[in-house]
Amino acid sequence: MDFKLTEEQQIFQDSVRRFAQAELGQDAARRAASSEYPWEVAEKLSGMGLLGITFPEADGGAGGSLIDSILAIQAIAEVCPRSGDVIQAGNFGPIRTFAEYATAEQKARFMPGLLAGKAVISLGMTEPEAGSAVTELVTSARPDGDDFLLNGTKIFGTHSAEANLFLVYCRFGPGVDGIGSVLVEKGMPGFLVGKPSAFMNGEDWSQLYFDNVRIPKANVLLGPGGFKKQISGFNVERLGNSARAVAVGRHAFNLAREHALTRKQFGRALCEFQGLQWKFADMAVRLESAQLMLMRAAVNAEGGLPAAQDTAMAKLACNEAGFYAANEAVQILGGLGFSEESTAQYCLRRTRGWMIAGGSIEILKNRIAEGIFERRFDQRKSRAMAAE
Ligand SMILES: Cc1cc2nc3c(=O)[nH]c(=O)nc-3n(C[C@H](O)[C@H](O)[C@H](O)COP(=O)(O)OP(=O)(O)OC[C@H]3O[C@@H](n4cnc5c(N)ncnc54)[C@H](O)[C@@H]3O)c2cc1C
Repeated sequence: MDFKLTEEQQIFQDSVRRFAQAELGQDAARRAASSEYPWEVAEKLSGMGLLGITFPEADGGAGGSLIDSILAIQAIAEVCPRSGDVIQAGNFGPIRTFAEYATAEQKARFMPGLLAGKAVISLGMTEPEAGSAVTELVTSARPDGDDFLLNGTKIFGTHSAEANLFLVYCRFGPGVDGIGSVLVEKGMPGFLVGKPSAFMNGEDWSQLYFDNVRIPKANVLLGPGGFKKQISGFNVERLGNSARAVAVGRHAFNLAREHALTRKQFGRALCEFQGLQWKFADMAVRLESAQLMLMRAAVNAEGGLPAAQDTAMAKLACNEAGFYAANEAVQILGGLGFSEESTAQYCLRRTRGWMIAGGSIEILKNRIAEGIFERRFDQRKSRAMAAE
């Protein structure tokens, strides 16, 4: 067992970190305060070859590993938390499911814009009545001649306010086996992107409305029976959220560390107070343990797709560690940490969101318990209860 990065991985991580410090660090607070997608960063990161890191070279990617993409997202997010979103969007998010299952023709149509950082794809999974119980989604794709007619609505999608392309989970028929997904392009007749609402993490989301949107067969990503494949792709998205949670927690940790070394109260540097030293020890242990679980999930991933149990454990550990560190950092920074001038409060809001997004911590614990007991626990009302 070797906990060290290989020489190539170390060189890659150092080069991305140097780039982030030189190009992104200075404006981190400004980007954090803006709800706008950082398009200028997307073009820069595309130029650095940091979008599509794990995708085959034939698809315009760099042919790297999941570990490489984790090293990149963490090196960027630790320096500029908001810019980490661009690495997520270009490597881990719905683009990863798209890269895995799209036809050559679909890739030729959409991949160049996405990898150039000029377009972004959003995942439409959650519905008003289907959140944690995602398989209860009702958005339907009904056959009509050679096409399908899409009807329904989606909420809370990351980048839904600014995306040009949407990977929409939908129902071709009843049951889990009836679920698949289609690609919806902005501007298709009958497709409406609602007025943006703000998440408390500073991101905007728009409700999506589909009213008899005509979806040609060429825009079907996965037909009926595609749900399990979609969730396998989604496990990569979860690892991206996990990696960012730790990196954003570390960003806040580093701010607090610097502050504790320089800020004096009672005639002493804050780092000399044992009450604060113990906070740093707790933060460091949680961040490091979460990082190890994240790397284990990535190393164990077969064909680049991580296992569900490894992913659930890593995401739970990373989400909790990132939030814990950001919360403690705000405390250590005092009034400054609670102010807009510091990115610490932003880190707190960002890490909080990942405890709900992409599998809430409760749903992850349910999944982990299933692994422990080696059996499924159906969360739905039993027939007997329903009959009461
Ligand atoms: C920042 C952010 C980004 C997001 N991005 C996207 C996106 O890109 N695309 C997309 O489609 N959706 C996205 N979502 C939506 C997200 O996937 C859902 O919010 C999430 O699945 C929870 O669904 P819900 O909000 O309907 O809560 P509910 O499912 O109603 O759950 C409410 C609470 O009950 C708990 N709960 C529910 N069932 C159980 C159970 N069986 N056992 C124990 N506890 C339970 C939940 O954990 C939660 O705490 C995003 C959400 C956030 C906050």
